[in-house]
Amino acid sequence: MIKFTLKNKSRKARTGILELKHGIVETPTFMTVGTYGSVKSLANSDLLECEAQIILCNAYHLMLRPEHDVVLKAGGLHKFMNWSKPILTDSGGYQVFSLSRQTRVSRNGVEFKSPLNGNKIFMTPEKSIETQINLGSDIMMIFDECTPYTATRDEVKKSMELSLYWAELSKKANNTTMPLFGIVQGGMHNDLREISLNELTKHNFDGYALGGLSVGEPSDIRNDIVEHIGCKLPEGKPRYLMGVGKPIDIIYAVREGIDMFDCVIPTRNARNGQLFTNLGNLNIRNKKYESDFTPIDKTCPCFTCKNYSRAYIRHLDRCNDILAGRLMSIHNVYFYQEFMRKIRLSIQENTLDALIENIEQNYIHE
Ligand SMILES: [Zn+2]
Repeated sequence: MIKFTLKNKSRKARTGILELKHGIVETPTFMTVGTYGSVKSLANSDLLECEAQIILCNAYHLMLRPEHDVVLKAGGLHKFMNWSKPILTDSGGYQVFSLSRQTRVSRNGVEFKSPLNGNKIFMTPEKSIETQINLGSDIMMIFDECTPYTATRDEVKKSMELSLYWAELSKKANNTTMPLFGIVQGGMHNDLREISLNELTKHNFDGYALGGLSVGEPSDIRNDIVEHIGCKLPEGKPRYLMGVGKPIDIIYAVREGIDMFDCVIPTRNARNGQLFTNLGNLNIRNKKYESDFTPIDKTCPCFTCKNYSRAYIRHLDRCNDILAGRLMSIHNVYFYQEFMRKIRLSIQENTLDALIENIEQNYIHE
């Protein structure tokens, strides 16, 4: 149920076509985050107009709410949210450790208190996979443990070994032909990451992700790890860098052979007035835009830039009108899709270095 065809290569960077149950995704791709089964403030028509090919939803959040198998009764997540294109579901490993209270880890899973109502929940790899199967995901992720940046090497090693065991349980729990990706752990240690990768590949997953990054480490440390391990992920399978990020970090990772990305930055920043443009970042709350009747980005053909000015959006934002968040989200989501298109084209035309230089000039100081 997954077919991945590599198209163009420019040194380590590559473009490809990912064929999934609900459609085709061109890689390198950026998945807009719709944690609870919606990209905050955007209707599906907005996402389609932004040319989003795939979105990411979260099994952890959708397991806690809605309760009572509502999504299953609806006929799966695609029907529930009326989204006909691919959905990747994150397993919830990261969220269990970052959002839950009083987590207790054992070899079989994690016991934690629901942040919604305090109920005790025991999350296991099997339960995570069952949830993702019931959601009807196009790509499922194994259940894993994430360590913080401050974890010691011993802690990271132990956690990585537990994640390997859970990877095996996740694989066994998938009694369908639905695609399942393995997640390489190992914190900031290249040798541990190599062990994790070598063990994971024995299970022949449908794709491989780098997890446990974007957990507070400086970006140069993260970029070093991606540079070391990125091109070692199996060549013929999709490679996914989880939770990253900024345009500059995405393009550096593409250079190392990464195909898939997700991050809350475009939508979260939009709701806070932080916009991406071809000339760098723009903060709509800055007073200098009070009487600026030009669009956010003159070169951008998105719905927001075609119809509204910086001054008007700034006014809406100051009035706390929810339209401000929607219009700015549309622009940022479009910007990221356009950015990935430029990246794919530059790989095809062998001009990735020039594009990197351009992004460095506009974004390195952000
Ligand atoms: Zn725009």
